[in-house]
Amino acid sequence: KLILAIETSCDETSAAVIENGTTIVSNIVSSQIESHKRFGGVVPEVASRHHVEQITVIIEQAMEEAKVTFADLSAVAVTEGPGLVGALLIGVNAAKAIAFAHDIPLIGVHHIAGHIYANQLVSPLSFPLIALVVSGGHTELVYMKEDGDFKIIGETRDDAVGEAYDKVARTLGLPYPGGPHIDRLAQEGQESIKFPRSWLEADSYDFSFSGLKSAVINKLHNLKQRDEEVKIEDVATSFQASVIDVLVGKTKRAVEQYEVKQLLLAGGVAANKGLRKALEEEFGPSSVDLLIPPLSLCTDNAAMIGAAASVKLRNNKFAAFDLNGNPGLDLEQQ
Ligand code: ATP
Ligand code: MG
Ligand code: FE
Repeated sequence: KLILAIETSCDETSAAVIENGTTIVSNIVSSQIESHKRFGGVVPEVASRHHVEQITVIIEQAMEEAKVTFADLSAVAVTEGPGLVGALLIGVNAAKAIAFAHDIPLIGVHHIAGHIYANQLVSPLSFPLIALVVSGGHTELVYMKEDGDFKIIGETRDDAVGEAYDKVARTLGLPYPGGPHIDRLAQEGQESIKFPRSWLEADSYDFSFSGLKSAVINKLHNLKQRDEEVKIEDVATSFQASVIDVLVGKTKRAVEQYEVKQLLLAGGVAANKGLRKALEEEFGPSSVDLLIPPLSLCTDNAAMIGAAASVKLRNNKFAAFDLNGNPGLDLEQQ
């Protein structure tokens, strides 16, 4: 069964054709990073305008590359939320137009469900599982007893990991988005500064990264005032070490407590080399099956939306034509 999937929740315009929820037939991603770079972050109004310009071209390209027609599709799926409302609306309206014009079932997908199901494009999922979701807007440990059943057992109380990366990078004078730059520098430095680890209460699966972010900013400020030099790669290494310690530590405890078969890594920060390596070292030799998507499926793309939609297609969970972009969409209500 073929699904056309569309993703426009933030700054990537993407369309993909997915077969049986597991195979990528085509996956076109158009990134707007160049347009947002000079503002140091995503400007919502600029994002919407780019999506409007790109959406039909990207969908046509995805259909052409897949060599399919609308008549071949079992459903058209789209990211319904969360995200920037003006950006979401472009994808939602494109999907509704296609569904209406060609009489194809419509499916609304939660963006984070998409990030998690990116792993289904790598290998079949086996339940129960835990997904560590680390992205620009989310940091969550999600427990899944079965397909389409999401329970958030822990989440960030302040900044998302990606957000902390981008803010620290900005302080270091690195271009937006800063995550990949810090990751690269972190491979070259030493952990010469011992930044705090924010474990919170002993039994909590929640996260907090704003204290670490402030610690990095204060450290840089103090060094500057005292005219002391610090290697930027050492700051990157020290910051990343703190982030990874906490992410891996909490994930390990969750995996043990919930006795899961699989551990999935998901979201844009899943592209982080240090985090991938740390998880492989921790869980590679263990009995839990670790899945990590290839880099191209970590950051936003429509293929992952098609993979998540396949579960809803199987369960006949279709959307009506009043489907709307919903910036506050709840993962647990999916
Ligand atoms: P969300 O998925 O929560 O709605 P988003 O879609 O904006 O947010 P993603 O596209 O999933 O976020 O991820 C983008 C984030 O990933 C950015 O914060 C970026 O800095 C970060 N990122 C990308 N590559 C890396 C890397 N190698 N190391 C650390 N962070 C990275
Ligand atoms: Mg993005
Ligand atoms: Fe995302």
